[in-house]
Amino acid sequence: MIPFVRAFDFAYGRRDQVSPLIQRVIADNPGPFTFTGTGTYIVGRPDAEAEVAVIDPGPLDQAHLAALMAAVEGRRVSHVLVTHTHRDHAPLARSFAQATGAKILAAQPPMRETHASDALDEDEDAEFAPDVVLTGCELIQGDGWTIEAMFTPGHASNHMAFVLREENALFCGDHVMGWSTTVVAPPDGNMRQYLASLDAVIARDFDMLWPTHGAPVTQVRPFLEAYRAHRMEREAQIVHRLAAGDRTVAEMVPVMYAAVDQRLWPAASLSVLAHLIKLVENGTALSDIEPDLTARFRLV
Ligand SMILES: [Zn+2]
Repeated sequence: MIPFVRAFDFAYGRRDQVSPLIQRVIADNPGPFTFTGTGTYIVGRPDAEAEVAVIDPGPLDQAHLAALMAAVEGRRVSHVLVTHTHRDHAPLARSFAQATGAKILAAQPPMRETHASDALDEDEDAEFAPDVVLTGCELIQGDGWTIEAMFTPGHASNHMAFVLREENALFCGDHVMGWSTTVVAPPDGNMRQYLASLDAVIARDFDMLWPTHGAPVTQVRPFLEAYRAHRMEREAQIVHRLAAGDRTVAEMVPVMYAAVDQRLWPAASLSVLAHLIKLVENGTALSDIEPDLTARFRLV
């Protein structure tokens, strides 16, 4: 069982000091994939002369823009960092950067044809364009803080997490969420990359994870190990379903997710497909056509 953390003390638009160098403001965009809404993080000292970086400005929402402007309180915003181009993370970046004079840093957005499925209400901000393209390992330095870009593809092909070195903490975007498993939706999501990115995060032994949605993960190693084990268990279930004669995603999901709200089945279907693609890639399974939601699969 994953030790999810769903208790979460917050108010929309309020600036909370959540660690010595981190403040957080939550946008009013709750939903099945955003939990209580997008958490925008401000990194830097809270005093008036400080220079700060802002991570994931969030959805296009004037109230959230006003809350962020109030939260930075005249401090200089040197960098706007965006974890990935899903529309609950990226769209406000441009207007916030224009209002503060900051540059936007992010990984290269995916090509248009690899957009995440509309079924997930989490599709791309097609307009998003960073000023500086990150590839991972860059160091971004400010007044009293050092942020390292950590490329973590899987949930999205351009997912970048950000390490705050002074606190051995990771702003993990949607790569890891404390309240839920993460959606890995092909074609832009990729399960093989997702698990490799999860291993990379586990290896770093962070003291704290700050997901974009919900509360921080404080018991990092046991949480991540349970998170990873859950994926491997799902994969074992899929192999079992194939052995039992299921051939399509549509046959597997009602069995595997019988206990889950049916409104989440479209997302679950894509996660199952992501595992099946991984099984085809590693030679465990075969697909009659290029793997998608209509393909027929069997074990090798
Ligand atoms: Zn996302």
